[in-house]
Amino acid sequence: MKNLKEEKSKTLRLIFLKNHRLSWQKYFLVFISLFLFVFLSSSFSETLVLQAQSGDVFELKFRKLQPGEPVILSWLEKRSSLITISFLGKSYLLKNEIEKKQFLLVGVDLAVKPGERILEISIWENNQEREKLGASVEILSRDFPVKKLTVDQKYVTPPREVQERIRREAEILAQVYSATSPDWLVQGPFSLPCEGELYPNFGQQRIYNNTPRSIHSGVDIAVPRGHPVKAANSGVVVLASDFYFSGKTVIIDHGLGLFSSYSHLSKLLVKRGERVNAGQVIGLAGSTGLSTGPHLHWAVKINESRVDPLALLELEF
Ligand SMILES: [Zn+2]
Repeated sequence: MKNLKEEKSKTLRLIFLKNHRLSWQKYFLVFISLFLFVFLSSSFSETLVLQAQSGDVFELKFRKLQPGEPVILSWLEKRSSLITISFLGKSYLLKNEIEKKQFLLVGVDLAVKPGERILEISIWENNQEREKLGASVEILSRDFPVKKLTVDQKYVTPPREVQERIRREAEILAQVYSATSPDWLVQGPFSLPCEGELYPNFGQQRIYNNTPRSIHSGVDIAVPRGHPVKAANSGVVVLASDFYFSGKTVIIDHGLGLFSSYSHLSKLLVKRGERVNAGQVIGLAGSTGLSTGPHLHWAVKINESRVDPLALLELEF
């Protein structure tokens, strides 16, 4: 945690605006705005402001532009009817709704390769693209930990008889993560789901019996069996089931593509479809599924991208 804060100032120098070549191929006139302001905001997050000639102003807020980090894109000054955003192979759309504070969440997946990427914002009025902004953004490299383990072979190759179950559960998960609430359900800041020894092992590459396995996409918190596990924030329970790998698991949809999951529970205390408040106990910690001892595996996804749950604790929404 300490190192992340110390390195913070290095990120900003890597960001600048430039024209986007695609603009010239457009049938109608496209204005390119060249205003860019960069400044530091709160003590935890960095802020980057983009101003369009149309008067629209956008703000990017993040802890650090790295794999596994969330980015909040806010539409601060709304002068147009619609914006579309394209970044890291995904597209987003925001309609101007007067009453609402408007933003969207972008996750930089933990497997994104570092390097320069273009964040494209198209500004639309009366079904015509009036302006396109292209910000060149540098995704910084990040060293994830590596852990070598010698474990029972069942952790490396699941037995044949559970293959069908694993396939079915993967399908259910894909379905759960494909639909999200269009409303922001979060209230107040995010908090840790339980107190316990925190292993900052997000992104850890695990090598089991000399075979590289999938990357650890959450953080583990060591807690005794039966310890209450709380919702990190409010939302709707979209899954409360017993899965082969993650054991008894709760997934909460917080809206706008943000999901948090809580795995290896010994007991589920909520049901699918239930509305939960921030801090509400949703289950008891345990060691169900493929787990070597009682702990909570806490993970977060933003629009299918795996991000560090601890980053949510440091961002204001
Ligand atoms: Zn874990």
